[in-house]
Amino acid sequence: MLFAWVLPVFAQVSRPRGLEDRGPLTRITFIHYRNSHAKPPWAGGGNGKGESKCYDFLARGAQWRSAEPYFVNPTNEDGMAPAFVESAVTAGVSAWEAYGGEVFGEGALDTSANYNGGDLDGVNTTSFGSYSDNGVIAVTTVWGYFSGPPRTRELVEWDMLFNEYFTWGDADANQTLMDLQNIATHELGHSAGLGDLYETSCSSETMYGYSSEGETIKRDLNTGDITGIQELYR
Ligand SMILES: [Zn+2]
Repeated sequence: MLFAWVLPVFAQVSRPRGLEDRGPLTRITFIHYRNSHAKPPWAGGGNGKGESKCYDFLARGAQWRSAEPYFVNPTNEDGMAPAFVESAVTAGVSAWEAYGGEVFGEGALDTSANYNGGDLDGVNTTSFGSYSDNGVIAVTTVWGYFSGPPRTRELVEWDMLFNEYFTWGDADANQTLMDLQNIATHELGHSAGLGDLYETSCSSETMYGYSSEGETIKRDLNTGDITGIQELYR
């Protein structure tokens, strides 16, 4: 259903009335590092707002204008049942929607769902796969209109990859595991339009940019996360 309106924009023809000033459709890719990793060079000194609000947007106004379905590929090397994978992602969706309303559409299991390098293909997905850097836990690519007047900005696609290098599961049951619900909830914050936080004063937030095995603090939202999702979707 996305193609119907994505393709005309690529062709630069017949934009809906009022969207003439809208910037190009572009991608932002978020790379979630394990705790021990050095601060990534683009992290800067904070959230760019000059104060510690502990939330950040990809771009103000860049949000879902209508809820789109997403597809969860449960295929994994760690013995997690499809129902467990699906419930971990669904719990993450619910965490954000409890404060942001209907941000996401319906989720469904689909073994053909694939990250595909984060390419724009009209389908929102989560899947497991290999990644070139073993220090990277997960990657989420978000496509959208991030420039131009905020009222014309919007998100149009997201794709999430969980790095198979780590052993995934339920960290409540085993602290050595990378907790799927914990990481999925963080990554879904990007899918909803929120950015990473790297200040240690924001380390209790779901959108804090680092994680490690055994961590479950990101499963539910903290005050900054709640303010952020409410500001974006009010
Ligand atoms: Zn992140």
